[in-house]
Amino acid sequence: MTTTRAPSKIIPRAFPGIRPNEVEELISNSKVNTYAAGTVLCREDANEATFYMILQGDVEVTKLVNQNEVRLLKTLSAGDFFGEMALIHNAPRAATVIAKSDIVVLELDKDSFDSVLKHSSSVALAMVKEISRRLRQNDEMAIEDLRMRAGELAQAYQQLAEQDLARRDFLTSVAHELRTPLTVASGYLQILQKGTLQGSQLTEALETVARNIGQIVSSVNDILFLQEIELVLPGFQPVSLAEIAQGILKKYEKKAAEHGVRLRVRNERNMPQVQGDPKSLERALTSLVDNAVKFSPHGGDVEIIFEKQRDRLNVSVEDHGIGIPPDQIARIFNRFYHVEKSGDNLFGGIGIGLAITRQVIEQHHGKLNVESKPGKGSKFSMSLPLGNDEHATLPPL
Ligand code: ADP
Repeated sequence: MTTTRAPSKIIPRAFPGIRPNEVEELISNSKVNTYAAGTVLCREDANEATFYMILQGDVEVTKLVNQNEVRLLKTLSAGDFFGEMALIHNAPRAATVIAKSDIVVLELDKDSFDSVLKHSSSVALAMVKEISRRLRQNDEMAIEDLRMRAGELAQAYQQLAEQDLARRDFLTSVAHELRTPLTVASGYLQILQKGTLQGSQLTEALETVARNIGQIVSSVNDILFLQEIELVLPGFQPVSLAEIAQGILKKYEKKAAEHGVRLRVRNERNMPQVQGDPKSLERALTSLVDNAVKFSPHGGDVEIIFEKQRDRLNVSVEDHGIGIPPDQIARIFNRFYHVEKSGDNLFGGIGIGLAITRQVIEQHHGKLNVESKPGKGSKFSMSLPLGNDEHATLPPL
């Protein structure tokens, strides 16, 4: 254990040039105290009136910045003093001081401190030096904080600008994609209003209006769905993807037949359930089936294939349609990315389907994979984790 050095040896280190009689006066006005490690000697913002000089041990000086961040300003050791600023200014403590180890200090109360200051020019000079050093240090800290805040503000501003740009891009794309069916529908409505169409022409015009309005409704529903699932985490429950696939098969039978496509579900029996949101998973699988049928302009089989791996359920949708050029694969999941024409074939759609599928699969902690060859066909596979326990819930996102 180190022995406490005598105050008369330490004091001249704090107040260089102090005369022996001034040292004596300081000692006679003070008392020596010991404190255990962890003791708070000064509490920030408290009105306290004690001056301390460390004779042995270390203390940490900390300050609360930005409401909740405690910043270590410095560590003081034998020969350093603290607590003078509050005494001179009659102000609350500007920082907190905590004993880092067991410490021995020389303490002066306000009256004793004032009296020493009046009588000892070297103590007063040392005080002035120390106070001006600390004020400068505080200024530097405030400037550094301001710089940091300015940087954060600039970053936040840039993020806002980027969000605003994305929002404007989104609105432009939505308006653009809705304009075509709206223009077609309203054009046909004008013709219908004239009342000149009859027979098959009338039926055709009505069908065109209905089809285009249907397209607008489904696009708006898709956009709303995508916005909604980004904001609201769906509630999870055991879901049978096999049942969902059978339902989609029924819904798409007619459309598939119109495309000369044979739609089948394979290997779906005895497949385990997954934890998920049935509505979202149905939407995700529907987009894959819709695309597989749509992008098979010359027919061919479209199959929804189930496969159970150890802890995952894989559901793939395979077609033998136009396929996707390798350089476009990375972009097909982006919102509004879509191909309207390939060769002589025209395709409807606004490019939201795969964005929905990707978002849903991500929310279900699954993986979405695509293999495709232009002119040969595509296979989209979603792989979802199986909870060991049927009722187990997945970890939050
Ligand atoms: P949409 O079907 O409305 O065009 P999607 O987001 O569902 O939008 O798909 C984006 C694009 O990805 C499609 O326009 C198409 O170019 C490509 N794609 C998706 N599925 C297939 C598929 N099965 N075969 C070929 N291309 C596909």
